[in-house]
Amino acid sequence: MLSEGLLMTRNVSKSFGGVVALKNVSVSVRPQTLTLVIGPNGSGKTTLINVIGGILQPDEGHVYFSGLDITKLSPHERFRLGLARTFQTPQLFTSLSVLENVLVPDRSYYEERVIEILLNNVWRIKEKEYVEKAFSILRLLNLDRLWDASARELSGGQMKLLELARVLMSDPKLVILDEPLAGVNPSLANEIMGYLTKLRSGLGTTFLIIEHRLDIALKYVDHVIAMHQGQVIAEGLPDEIVKHPAVVEAYLGG
Ligand code: ADP
Repeated sequence: MLSEGLLMTRNVSKSFGGVVALKNVSVSVRPQTLTLVIGPNGSGKTTLINVIGGILQPDEGHVYFSGLDITKLSPHERFRLGLARTFQTPQLFTSLSVLENVLVPDRSYYEERVIEILLNNVWRIKEKEYVEKAFSILRLLNLDRLWDASARELSGGQMKLLELARVLMSDPKLVILDEPLAGVNPSLANEIMGYLTKLRSGLGTTFLIIEHRLDIALKYVDHVIAMHQGQVIAEGLPDEIVKHPAVVEAYLGG
């Protein structure tokens, strides 16, 4: 049983042809933290989250989640265990309303519901609970007043929040966020980071975040993992990491 982290990679390596994207990467994400992965372009951040999310298979090494070896599981199987992710470009139904977007069941929810409908006919009760849950999540993210707006009317930052709302409907233990602040105005960017800290403390959700806007993100996160050329070069508290010589060198050296 692995108890150190909710999520762990152990000696993960991944190459694309001759390009080594990850080399012996071992990281741990402690439960109920905001953990930020930083590093210059090409340092392996995207490859790492794709290996963790199951989009890519590592050449070597293992990924553990909640004490289970999930290295061979599909993204969908990982999702069912509580490992969810959002994408740089939100995956929304633009012709549907904000509330509908949150309610549109993902496949795993739908499958469970079909069985419920067939066996118990309790779907009406569940439906009400589901709408209430959707509203409480929208309230947490300050999107409830927009529940009836079409998703396409939202700003870029609000779309990112809506995607997060959709993901939260599945009660994930850990959410991977790929650049949640990209293209978002500073005030909403701070708001988004504030919501993440609120979700961590309130719901106990753990977040693993890739983000380039360090001026904003570093103020909110608990732990930073710094990468360079496919390896972890430093990790620790935000204040320590920004001053770490290897990190400074990685950024200055390009
Ligand atoms: P980051 O997200 O930190 O910018 P990436 O994980 O995207 O870094 O990339 C790490 C390295 O792997 C880079 O050299 C990149 O060019 C290479 N790489 C990533 N994905 C692919 C791919 N699908 N095919 C070939 N090379 C890739």
